[in-house]
Amino acid sequence: MEIKIIPCLNDNYSYLIFDKNKKIACVIDPSEAKPVIEIIEKNKVNLRYILNTHHHYDHVGGNIELKKKYNSKIIGFKDDKDRIPEIDIMVENNQIWKEENFEAKIYHIPGHTTGHIAFHFFKEKKIFTGDTLFSLGCGRIFEGTYKQMFNSLNKIKRLPVDTEIYCGHEYTLQNANFCLANDSANPKLIEKISKVKKKLENNLPTIPSTLAEEIECNIFLKAKDLESFSKLRDLKDNF
Ligand code: ZN
Ligand code: FE
Repeated sequence: MEIKIIPCLNDNYSYLIFDKNKKIACVIDPSEAKPVIEIIEKNKVNLRYILNTHHHYDHVGGNIELKKKYNSKIIGFKDDKDRIPEIDIMVENNQIWKEENFEAKIYHIPGHTTGHIAFHFFKEKKIFTGDTLFSLGCGRIFEGTYKQMFNSLNKIKRLPVDTEIYCGHEYTLQNANFCLANDSANPKLIEKISKVKKKLENNLPTIPSTLAEEIECNIFLKAKDLESFSKLRDLKDNF
Protein backbone atom coordinates (compact mmCIF):
# COMPACT_ATOMS: atom_id res chain seq x y z
CA MET A 1 0.00 0.00 0.00
CA GLU A 2 1.36 3.38 -1.01
CA ILE A 3 0.44 6.65 0.63
CA LYS A 4 0.67 10.22 -0.62
CA ILE A 5 0.21 13.28 1.54
CA ILE A 6 -1.85 15.94 -0.24
CA PRO A 7 -1.67 19.50 1.13
CA CYS A 8 -5.06 21.20 0.72
CA LEU A 9 -6.50 24.65 1.50
CA ASN A 10 -4.30 26.54 3.99
CA ASP A 11 -3.12 23.87 6.36
CA ASN A 12 -5.18 20.74 5.72
CA TYR A 13 -3.88 17.34 4.71
CA SER A 14 -5.76 14.83 2.64
CA TYR A 15 -4.24 11.42 2.06
CA LEU A 16 -4.31 9.11 -0.92
CA ILE A 17 -3.70 5.46 -0.19
CA PHE A 18 -3.45 3.14 -3.11
CA ASP A 19 -2.86 -0.37 -4.26
CA LYS A 20 -0.14 -0.16 -6.90
CA ASN A 21 -0.97 -3.49 -8.52
CA LYS A 22 -4.70 -3.06 -8.76
CA LYS A 23 -4.40 0.67 -9.50
CA ILE A 24 -7.16 1.59 -7.08
CA ALA A 25 -7.20 4.20 -4.35
CA CYS A 26 -8.95 5.68 -1.33
CA VAL A 27 -8.75 9.28 -0.29
CA ILE A 28 -9.11 10.35 3.32
CA ASP A 29 -10.77 13.72 4.00
CA PRO A 30 -10.57 15.46 0.62
CA SER A 31 -10.78 19.13 1.63
CA GLU A 32 -11.00 20.13 -2.01
CA ALA A 33 -11.00 18.21 -5.28
CA LYS A 34 -8.25 19.86 -7.36
CA PRO A 35 -5.06 18.82 -5.54
CA VAL A 36 -6.51 15.33 -5.02
CA ILE A 37 -7.25 14.96 -8.74
CA GLU A 38 -3.69 16.00 -9.56
CA ILE A 39 -2.22 13.24 -7.37
CA ILE A 40 -4.70 10.67 -8.70
CA GLU A 41 -3.83 11.45 -12.31
CA LYS A 42 -0.12 11.49 -11.59
CA ASN A 43 -0.29 8.03 -10.05
CA LYS A 44 -2.74 6.70 -12.65
CA VAL A 45 -5.09 5.15 -10.13
CA ASN A 46 -8.85 4.92 -9.93
CA LEU A 47 -10.44 6.57 -6.91
CA ARG A 48 -12.80 3.94 -5.53
CA TYR A 49 -13.46 5.22 -2.01
CA ILE A 50 -13.71 8.55 -0.21
CA LEU A 51 -13.30 8.22 3.57
CA ASN A 52 -14.49 11.05 5.82
CA THR A 53 -13.43 11.36 9.48
CA HIS A 54 -16.09 14.02 10.16
CA HIS A 55 -18.46 16.41 8.45
CA HIS A 56 -16.55 19.72 8.61
CA TYR A 57 -16.24 21.41 5.21
CA ASP A 58 -12.43 21.26 5.25
CA HIS A 59 -12.69 17.44 5.37
CA VAL A 60 -15.54 16.78 2.95
CA GLY A 61 -15.26 19.74 0.54
CA GLY A 62 -14.07 17.58 -2.37
CA ASN A 63 -16.63 14.77 -1.88
CA ILE A 64 -19.15 15.69 -4.55
CA GLU A 65 -16.75 16.64 -7.33
CA LEU A 66 -14.55 13.59 -6.79
CA LYS A 67 -17.49 11.22 -6.58
CA LYS A 68 -18.88 12.58 -9.81
CA LYS A 69 -15.57 12.36 -11.64
CA TYR A 70 -14.51 8.88 -10.48
CA ASN A 71 -17.80 7.30 -9.49
CA SER A 72 -16.38 6.68 -6.01
CA LYS A 73 -18.23 5.53 -2.92
CA ILE A 74 -18.29 7.79 0.14
CA ILE A 75 -17.81 6.26 3.59
CA GLY A 76 -18.72 7.99 6.86
CA PHE A 77 -20.14 7.51 10.34
CA LYS A 78 -23.75 6.31 10.41
CA ASP A 79 -25.00 9.01 12.78
CA ASP A 80 -23.59 11.68 10.46
CA LYS A 81 -25.41 10.40 7.41
CA ASP A 82 -27.36 13.64 7.09
CA ARG A 83 -24.32 15.88 7.14
CA ILE A 84 -21.71 14.01 5.16
CA PRO A 85 -22.30 15.06 1.55
CA GLU A 86 -23.48 12.15 -0.66
CA ILE A 87 -22.57 9.41 1.80
CA ASP A 88 -22.98 5.86 0.37
CA ILE A 89 -21.61 3.51 3.02
CA MET A 90 -22.35 4.02 6.70
CA VAL A 91 -19.93 2.59 9.26
CA GLU A 92 -20.08 2.27 13.01
CA ASN A 93 -17.81 1.98 16.03
CA ASN A 94 -15.45 -1.03 16.03
CA GLN A 95 -16.61 -2.17 12.62
CA ILE A 96 -14.02 -3.43 10.17
CA TRP A 97 -14.46 -1.87 6.76
CA LYS A 98 -12.94 -4.02 4.05
CA GLU A 99 -12.92 -3.65 0.27
CA GLU A 100 -10.33 -5.14 -2.08
CA ASN A 101 -7.02 -4.89 -0.18
CA PHE A 102 -8.17 -1.96 1.92
CA GLU A 103 -8.98 -2.91 5.48
CA ALA A 104 -9.56 -0.49 8.31
CA LYS A 105 -11.08 -0.64 11.76
CA ILE A 106 -13.43 2.21 12.59
CA TYR A 107 -13.27 3.94 15.97
CA HIS A 108 -15.92 6.38 17.06
CA ILE A 109 -13.89 9.15 18.72
CA PRO A 110 -16.29 12.00 19.60
CA GLY A 111 -15.24 15.33 21.09
CA HIS A 112 -14.31 17.62 18.19
CA THR A 113 -17.66 16.65 16.69
CA THR A 114 -20.16 14.12 18.02
CA GLY A 115 -19.75 11.92 14.94
CA HIS A 116 -15.99 11.95 14.52
CA ILE A 117 -14.35 8.65 13.56
CA ALA A 118 -10.83 7.37 12.92
CA PHE A 119 -9.80 4.87 10.25
CA HIS A 120 -7.19 2.43 11.53
CA PHE A 121 -5.41 0.50 8.78
CA PHE A 122 -4.15 -1.97 11.33
CA LYS A 123 -2.17 -4.18 8.94
CA GLU A 124 -0.19 -1.14 7.76
CA LYS A 125 -0.13 0.34 11.27
CA LYS A 126 -1.50 3.68 10.12
CA ILE A 127 -4.34 5.61 11.71
CA PHE A 128 -6.14 8.61 10.24
CA THR A 129 -7.21 10.72 13.17
CA GLY A 130 -8.80 13.75 11.46
CA ASP A 131 -9.19 16.63 13.93
CA THR A 132 -9.08 14.50 17.10
CA LEU A 133 -5.40 13.70 17.63
CA PHE A 134 -2.95 16.10 16.00
CA SER A 135 0.78 15.83 16.18
CA LEU A 136 1.59 17.41 19.57
CA GLY A 137 -2.00 18.51 20.04
CA CYS A 138 -5.66 17.63 19.87
CA GLY A 139 -8.72 19.13 18.23
CA ARG A 140 -10.90 21.82 19.67
CA ILE A 141 -13.99 20.56 21.43
CA PHE A 142 -16.83 21.89 19.31
CA GLU A 143 -19.75 19.53 19.85
CA GLY A 144 -18.67 16.95 22.36
CA THR A 145 -17.57 17.09 25.98
CA TYR A 146 -14.13 17.17 27.56
CA LYS A 147 -14.80 13.68 28.81
CA GLN A 148 -15.58 12.39 25.33
CA MET A 149 -12.41 13.91 23.91
CA PHE A 150 -10.31 12.57 26.78
CA ASN A 151 -11.73 9.07 26.26
CA SER A 152 -11.26 9.28 22.50
CA LEU A 153 -7.60 10.17 22.90
CA ASN A 154 -7.15 7.34 25.39
CA LYS A 155 -8.62 4.92 22.87
CA ILE A 156 -5.95 5.91 20.34
CA LYS A 157 -3.28 5.80 23.04
CA ARG A 158 -3.88 2.09 23.56
CA LEU A 159 -2.91 1.16 19.99
CA PRO A 160 0.54 -0.30 19.23
CA VAL A 161 3.14 2.43 19.84
CA ASP A 162 4.65 2.05 16.38
CA THR A 163 1.35 3.12 14.79
CA GLU A 164 1.81 6.05 12.40
CA ILE A 165 -0.45 9.03 13.02
CA TYR A 166 -1.91 10.87 10.02
CA CYS A 167 -3.96 13.87 11.12
CA GLY A 168 -6.04 16.50 9.37
CA HIS A 169 -3.89 19.62 9.73
CA GLU A 170 -0.34 20.94 9.75
CA TYR A 171 -0.60 22.43 13.24
CA THR A 172 2.49 20.74 14.65
CA LEU A 173 4.67 23.78 15.27
CA GLN A 174 1.95 25.84 16.99
CA ASN A 175 1.11 22.76 19.06
CA ALA A 176 4.80 22.28 19.87
CA ASN A 177 5.01 25.76 21.35
CA PHE A 178 2.10 24.99 23.65
CA CYS A 179 3.65 21.68 24.74
CA LEU A 180 6.96 23.43 25.40
CA ALA A 181 5.29 26.11 27.53
CA ASN A 182 3.83 23.39 29.76
CA ASP A 183 6.56 20.75 29.63
CA SER A 184 9.76 22.67 29.03
CA ALA A 185 12.13 20.12 30.57
CA ASN A 186 11.04 17.19 28.43
CA PRO A 187 14.12 16.13 26.40
CA LYS A 188 12.02 13.99 24.01
CA LEU A 189 9.88 17.03 23.23
CA ILE A 190 12.93 19.19 22.53
CA GLU A 191 14.26 16.50 20.22
CA LYS A 192 10.90 16.18 18.45
CA ILE A 193 10.65 19.95 17.96
CA SER A 194 14.03 20.16 16.29
CA LYS A 195 12.95 17.36 13.91
CA VAL A 196 9.69 19.20 13.20
CA LYS A 197 11.49 22.47 12.48
CA LYS A 198 13.90 20.77 10.08
CA LYS A 199 11.01 19.29 8.12
CA LEU A 200 9.20 22.61 7.91
CA GLU A 201 12.37 24.42 6.82
CA ASN A 202 12.58 21.96 3.94
CA ASN A 203 8.92 22.49 3.09
CA LEU A 204 8.02 18.97 4.16
CA PRO A 205 5.00 17.83 6.16
CA THR A 206 5.66 16.98 9.81
CA ILE A 207 3.27 14.07 9.29
CA PRO A 208 3.24 11.19 9.97
CA SER A 209 4.11 11.19 13.61
CA THR A 210 4.20 7.99 15.61
CA LEU A 211 2.15 7.07 18.61
CA ALA A 212 5.35 6.50 20.62
CA GLU A 213 6.46 10.10 19.97
CA GLU A 214 3.02 11.46 20.75
CA ILE A 215 2.82 9.57 24.05
CA GLU A 216 6.20 11.00 25.04
CA CYS A 217 5.71 14.54 23.76
CA ASN A 218 2.04 15.46 23.32
CA ILE A 219 0.92 17.24 26.47
CA PHE A 220 -2.70 16.19 25.91
CA LEU A 221 -1.75 12.52 25.89
CA LYS A 222 0.31 13.05 29.01
CA ALA A 223 -2.67 14.42 30.98
CA LYS A 224 -3.28 11.98 33.83
CA ASP A 225 -6.95 12.65 34.43
CA LEU A 226 -9.96 14.40 32.98
CA GLU A 227 -9.47 17.45 35.16
CA SER A 228 -5.94 18.17 34.04
CA PHE A 229 -6.86 17.40 30.44
CA SER A 230 -9.74 19.90 30.59
CA LYS A 231 -7.49 22.58 32.06
CA LEU A 232 -4.96 22.10 29.28
CA ARG A 233 -7.65 22.23 26.63
CA ASP A 234 -8.92 25.55 28.02
CA LEU A 235 -5.41 26.97 28.22
CA LYS A 236 -4.74 25.96 24.62
CA ASP A 237 -7.89 27.68 23.41
CA ASN A 238 -6.45 30.95 24.69
CA PHE A 239 -2.78 30.31 23.90
ZN1 ZN B 1 -12.87 19.70 11.95
FE1 FE C 1 -10.35 20.44 10.16
